[in-house]
Amino acid sequence: MKDTYRHKGMRRQLIEELRRKGITDERVLQAMEHLPRHYFLDKAFEEHAYEDKPFPIGHEQTISQPYTVAFQTELLRVRKRDKVLEIGTGSGYQAAVLALMGARVFTVERYEALYRSAKELLEALGMKNARCFFRDGSKGLPEFAPFDRIIATAGATEVPEALKKQLAVGGILVIPVGAEVQDMRRIVRTSETEFIEEDTGSFRFVPFLGGTEPAMPGKTPP
Ligand code: SAH
Repeated sequence: MKDTYRHKGMRRQLIEELRRKGITDERVLQAMEHLPRHYFLDKAFEEHAYEDKPFPIGHEQTISQPYTVAFQTELLRVRKRDKVLEIGTGSGYQAAVLALMGARVFTVERYEALYRSAKELLEALGMKNARCFFRDGSKGLPEFAPFDRIIATAGATEVPEALKKQLAVGGILVIPVGAEVQDMRRIVRTSETEFIEEDTGSFRFVPFLGGTEPAMPGKTPP
């Protein structure tokens, strides 16, 4: 893994592009300027890592577009030391952004192969405050609940009850909801029984699916 001046330069330009597109949270922008996105992509996409686009990461999944990562992270209003649950580890990029912002990250992935490679990468980057789990995220992570913040990076047809339940009072849940196109929904838990919900914009995500996909026995993950 090598982060060159060229990469840094391209990253600065990407950050300027995110600003032009309306991202204003300096803490989000700083974390994304700091984090080499090309580490999270296949070598074949290295040249394109700082374009504002999603890319395939295997198993028909994608690393989200930088604008989407920035938009969701901004909505989440993460504070240092917040306990954050992410559903959909994928490449591990979003988890790393949250960890760099000082959150205690718990990230869940249903593909074992993706879980393994993200875990390995986050460890190699020394991100001790990001913990990876191979699970069906629709059930959340009850043994670590409640969470101050929850973010889903796959499009759900409805908001899993378990996620609302595992949100601390005063906590924020950001989740794309919808079948073909998703509304980015922000849900704030205002009391034990009350939630305020708002839709903030349209996005397109890979689907939020149930169950898990174990890696093939005897096969090493890509
Ligand atoms: N945050 C990721 C984006 C990955 S795409 C990144 O920064 O790269 C969304 C991911 O959600 C996919 O890897 C998909 O396998 C995963 N996913 C979908 N449904 C899930 C579920 N129920 N539990 C856990 N992960 C899920």
